[in-house]
Amino acid sequence: MKAAEVLKTYFGYDVFRKGQEDIIGGILSGRDALAIMPTGAGKSICYQVPALLLPGITLVISPLISLMQDQVKSLNAAGIHAAYINSSLTETQIAKALALALKGVYKIIYVAPERLESAGFMNFALHGTISMVTVDEAHCISQWGQDFRPSYLKIVDFIDGLPERPIVSAFTATATTEVKNDIECILKLKEPQIVVTGFDRENLYYSVEHMAGSSKDDFVMEYIKKHSGESGIVYCATRKNVDTLYEKLFGQGVSVTRYHAGIDNETRKKNQDDFIYDRVQVVVATNAFGMGIDKSNVRYVIHYNMPQSMENYYQEAGRAGRDGESSQCILLYSVQDVMIHKYLLAKKEFEGMEIDDIELVKQRDVQRLQAMEGYCRTTSCLRSYILEYFGEKIKGTCDNCGNCHGEYVEIDMTADAKWVINCIAEAKGRYGLNIVLGALLGANRARLREVGATNYKSYGVLSHRNEKELRLLIDQMLLEGYIIQTQEEYSVLRMGDIRKLKDENTHVLVRRLEERKEAKKGSGKIGKKTDALTGAGYKLFEKLRQLRLAMAKEEALPPYIIFNDKTLIDMCAKMPVNKQQMLTVSGVGENKFHRYGKRFMDEIEAFLAQNPGVILSENLQEQDVESDSEPERKSGKRQKKGDFHIGPEDAKKFEYADYYYISDIKDKLNDVCSLDNVKKVTIGAIWDCLVMKGLTIEEKREGKLIKVGTEQGVELGIKTVDKISQNGYHYQLLVYPEKVQKLIVEYFIADGDNFLQ
Ligand code: ADP
Repeated sequence: MKAAEVLKTYFGYDVFRKGQEDIIGGILSGRDALAIMPTGAGKSICYQVPALLLPGITLVISPLISLMQDQVKSLNAAGIHAAYINSSLTETQIAKALALALKGVYKIIYVAPERLESAGFMNFALHGTISMVTVDEAHCISQWGQDFRPSYLKIVDFIDGLPERPIVSAFTATATTEVKNDIECILKLKEPQIVVTGFDRENLYYSVEHMAGSSKDDFVMEYIKKHSGESGIVYCATRKNVDTLYEKLFGQGVSVTRYHAGIDNETRKKNQDDFIYDRVQVVVATNAFGMGIDKSNVRYVIHYNMPQSMENYYQEAGRAGRDGESSQCILLYSVQDVMIHKYLLAKKEFEGMEIDDIELVKQRDVQRLQAMEGYCRTTSCLRSYILEYFGEKIKGTCDNCGNCHGEYVEIDMTADAKWVINCIAEAKGRYGLNIVLGALLGANRARLREVGATNYKSYGVLSHRNEKELRLLIDQMLLEGYIIQTQEEYSVLRMGDIRKLKDENTHVLVRRLEERKEAKKGSGKIGKKTDALTGAGYKLFEKLRQLRLAMAKEEALPPYIIFNDKTLIDMCAKMPVNKQQMLTVSGVGENKFHRYGKRFMDEIEAFLAQNPGVILSENLQEQDVESDSEPERKSGKRQKKGDFHIGPEDAKKFEYADYYYISDIKDKLNDVCSLDNVKKVTIGAIWDCLVMKGLTIEEKREGKLIKVGTEQGVELGIKTVDKISQNGYHYQLLVYPEKVQKLIVEYFIADGDNFLQ
């Protein structure tokens, strides 16, 4: 079997993605490999495909138990024998797994790095045939990275101890030069095939919203409500934030769970599973959540607080849209977050490190924080900012981020800034943001009267401004050091260094994002994954999702392991009702077809029977609308250049049968077509042909329009067949005999000049 066949048979994909082929080719030619690809790019397939083609076992070293379990479940669902060996198993289970491994039962074994040192495992390694050692999350080997794992340093000793050196392949999403060099050197990679793919994740829409405190809660609440039914992660900086936000959302009836290191193991595991298995829609979590989460249908990641570095941000935000569907990454920025990070960095301890190293690490931490802040404050393209940070050259702006869809206006708030200073002076540094804001806006609140703020000279002087503007101003002043916010539990505003403000040439400029442009299709609908589907298509998608959920429950698997959303969407577009058609759906391989195909086909068939002639995806619709509006089409002439047609030679290759469903004819026509510059034929176009030839008509029966054979059609052999779905539902489909198939094929043969004009 060749690599491409393995990809199709086991994983159900037709083509390799960027970089995958090079890595796989390198490995299969016996070379070591190093792949640096962003989350969701498809690294796993780069070692799983060769693992199936190499003679012996592939050992995958992975840092996280949950990651291993997930991968093994996915592989098993795809019909590949794989196992994991880690501390979640008992010693007896481990011994059993290793004995089976020695017998050659597994092609892929996932193992935690700590396990490599155990005598039992080494014994297996010495006697089994290990063709490849794959180091997943390879950045864990580098002390430069933030996920350094000392046990990763032992991997090379393990490899050295093997009777024969296997191929070594390493995979990571961390792109910095130091990390890359560390991986190559520490793992002693031998002239590896290196692939670094672009870091852009085109399906992710980035935006930064400037806001503080309670407005963040309102934002999150509203966002989740607008996106009900979609999976999302909300990251908070602290456990306390997680708990508070969780309570609020839960109280408002949101389907939500929470995750942080302060929750006991068992509950944490349950909460995580609830999210992964689609039992709840939203998880509010600290950054403890997510490493090793492969859930592919996360539609949005909201950062309630700004993270400490772009590396962290990109990794966490990157958990959105692993299935390649449109998803959103939104960061809620407030200056307080920057202050908190600065404070935490100042308190950071560096146990056991050399003094010079400490300085270096501190400098890097500060630089990282500055870069992160730069992202939040930039007014230019956010995607470009990210890619530049990771050292990638970019071409222009992306038109798919908050900044590309908005315009910044700069307002001079110098005079307002002076009033802020006056107010803080009047408050004598005793009160926090809410009192200062309330006083300046002239709010009518009991608390303001209680503290005497209603008597300040500054009371109400900025009532012509709105709260959002004043918050932006205070953020800016904090940033420029004119005022200081203390970090105690009840943080208060104090005067900072205001000397510069006395200079008449100094201006305090605040940037405000305005005039949101109509967002680009696909992203603007805020990550609607089903953009390509029509209303009816979406209905079918929902039905398939329900079926997937029911099957996932039966098999105790996360739904996305059965099929991911992208596969379901492709099913809605292709409407497969037989094996051949089903295997053309992206993500349906032989094994998954045998396990799950029939039930999905039945569901689709039943849906089509209930909604005959329905158009499920925009692709179909576009072509149909176009052809309908074309006068020549109606008068019996065929399509203009670019529409589907075949050459006379193609027509000869068409495989006729006694009877075909219309979807079979569609597939056969597309299969034989050798022309590059034509669209695919659609069921709609074939129906048009049948109607024009007077072979079928639409009739209204029980309020529904359905297609039936005309007298002439029936004479030629078109007939209706009764079908019963697996769920016992009765429905009817038209089938077309060979004679009619010939008429259709003829109809689509280009008669030379017509198409070339
Ligand atoms: P990574 O490990 O790089 O984060 P994964 O290996 O989890 O990414 O792959 C992300 C998603 O992309 C998975 O759903 C995977 O099945 C899918 N995928 C990988 N390779 C291909 C391909 N060649 N064609 C289509 N989908 C693919």
